[in-house]
Amino acid sequence: MTKLKMWQPKKSWEENEESWDQGVPAAQKQQKLKTLKTLPKMPGMTPQTAKNLKWKSLKYMLTHDKGFHILKGFLRHPIRYGREFFKSAFQSKPFSRKGDFFYYGIKSIDEFEELLTQEDTLFVIGFSYCHKPLECPSGRFTDACIHDSNNPVCRQCFIGKCIHALPEEGSVPLLIPTIHYIGKEIFDVVHNNPDKRVIFMITACEMTLEMFGDWGNMVGIHGIGVRLDGRICNTMRAFELSENGVKPGLTVVLDDTQKKMLDLIRKRWKHSDS
Ligand code: SF4
Repeated sequence: MTKLKMWQPKKSWEENEESWDQGVPAAQKQQKLKTLKTLPKMPGMTPQTAKNLKWKSLKYMLTHDKGFHILKGFLRHPIRYGREFFKSAFQSKPFSRKGDFFYYGIKSIDEFEELLTQEDTLFVIGFSYCHKPLECPSGRFTDACIHDSNNPVCRQCFIGKCIHALPEEGSVPLLIPTIHYIGKEIFDVVHNNPDKRVIFMITACEMTLEMFGDWGNMVGIHGIGVRLDGRICNTMRAFELSENGVKPGLTVVLDDTQKKMLDLIRKRWKHSDS
């Protein structure tokens, strides 16, 4: 197993990406991954689920907060967080949207690119576990990811490619098993780095991006939620099962959206190299 980053600072982005991509056909020969044959046409949320969504989100967050991590995080700055939460909650949407990108606290991709190149920026990049390959050597319902470039599964995995391309310094890659996990991690990153500006890019189902946007706005971090396609959760029941590791279906980041995510990582990579 090697955790050495495939992206070498002495090479250009194109050379690094080429050497990653060149290893993919051999990996496919060694182990063919199960993939979705066709993309199911699922609405982002059922109409029933969309009703009283903010209330459902608040109730879920509070009643499933094992270890009280969210409550403890909130109590670090209860007045500020309370004010910002209600400010966000009283907007009709906690984000603006362009295609698969949901913007929180920013208006455009240009604004995000600008943030990516600031010296004081800490970049949290999170991947929902449901788009790990079914054959993932670290297991799916876990925050682990060995991103071993010699492992044929990792070599075919979009998450593996992103983590290899991401500069070590100033980046926090996370694999997200539950909403409380990412909530706790975000609180920790923000509270442990008071001199940094925390920004994020996180993959999630549309329903989750709708449900929990107010919490990100409450903490005051800016970033992009990336909509997943495929076998998404679009009901509360499916979401709750998934939060308990019951998620036999695969979600995917669509090809065009993968390119856009890699373009943003490239901006970060280029900046760290300069
Ligand atoms: S790179 Fe992908 S396949 Fe490999 S451990 Fe990480 S999530 Fe699993």
